[in-house]
Amino acid sequence: MSQREWIEKDFYKELGVSSGASQDEIKKAYRKLARDLHPDANPGDPKAEERFKAVSEAHAVLSDPAKRKEYDDTRKLFAGGGYGRGGFGPGAGGGFSQEFNIGDIFGGAGAGDGGLGDLLGGLFNRGGTRTSSRPRRGADVETETTLGFREAAQGVTVPLRMTSPSPCTTCHGSGAKPGTSPRVCPICNGTGVVSRNQGAFGFSEPCDECRGSGSIIDDPCVDCHGNGIQNRTRTITVRIPPGVGDGQRIRLAGQGEAGLRGAPSGDLYVTVHVSQDKVFGRNGDDLTLVLPVSYSELVLGTTVSVPTLDGRVGVKVPPGTADGRILRVRGRGVPKRGGGAGDLLVTVKVAVPQKLDREAVEALERYREAERASGFDPRAGWAGA
Ligand SMILES: [Zn+2]
Ligand SMILES: [Zn+2]
Repeated sequence: MSQREWIEKDFYKELGVSSGASQDEIKKAYRKLARDLHPDANPGDPKAEERFKAVSEAHAVLSDPAKRKEYDDTRKLFAGGGYGRGGFGPGAGGGFSQEFNIGDIFGGAGAGDGGLGDLLGGLFNRGGTRTSSRPRRGADVETETTLGFREAAQGVTVPLRMTSPSPCTTCHGSGAKPGTSPRVCPICNGTGVVSRNQGAFGFSEPCDECRGSGSIIDDPCVDCHGNGIQNRTRTITVRIPPGVGDGQRIRLAGQGEAGLRGAPSGDLYVTVHVSQDKVFGRNGDDLTLVLPVSYSELVLGTTVSVPTLDGRVGVKVPPGTADGRILRVRGRGVPKRGGGAGDLLVTVKVAVPQKLDREAVEALERYREAERASGFDPRAGWAGA
């Protein structure tokens, strides 16, 4: 875990103990929470699961005296310094990527960490001539959409309409009046941080002059009052990959709220709902289908043309197939993330005619006699019951 995350997280608060808590108190608090929040005790509750993870993480650090000391020291260094949540977001990591990152789609969890390495490293290696700053990254946005069954299985491109803060169109997010540009903060040289020496120790704290943004705007843009953001209704086109399941959350990097003054945008999370289909069902990557057949088809065998997501396929019902048997058609199910597809599972279900003409009824009566004569007894297994 990076120190940036350490600064953002309050492990004591997660466990509900004071920062002076003994190892024993920490252990007790953790045990109780872990029991209450355990996924087995809260099936299908994502909030409890999230809390469970957070509590486990807090315990992992606080229960180890060496790690706890490091954590305490790191936080002390930044106490009151305004390095709160998001203060040092992943400046270089996010970017205005419009790319739909397939690898991220099913991950869901990878939100917070831009993989930037730790804060302290970045902070202390900065030279005084550095002109770029690390302004606040935009917030993540949540939205949802409902897809048809086949759309979800095969993948689809859908428009999503959202009202959210976006980069100001007038100043392109810089916050400065068109024709002017923000100037580098002379106090911190654009780093957003000032160093103060006290005896043998050096301290770093956010620059007051620019409030940690590293730049100063003399002529603010009138449309966004200098923060570079406007509320806009926008429609974005989102490519939903094949095989997405009901309730799944998709992450679209850089499609969330715009960052302040041109900082990277947050991510967009789309929760997908999938509607039911009249014909198909789904079991993971497998597509399920109930195939109505007649009794004679089961006895004599037949080949039936059944629908798939992609055209039709002939399914062979072998002679003597039992009602309810599942026939598997390989590779004709739901497309998989890594290529290929699941199977199509066809369950045969006998349909009993409610109305037959005279000729058919007579044939059936003759058949019943012949069946008995051939020794078939459907309840042979019940002998003696
Ligand atoms: Zn503007
Ligand atoms: Zn400054």
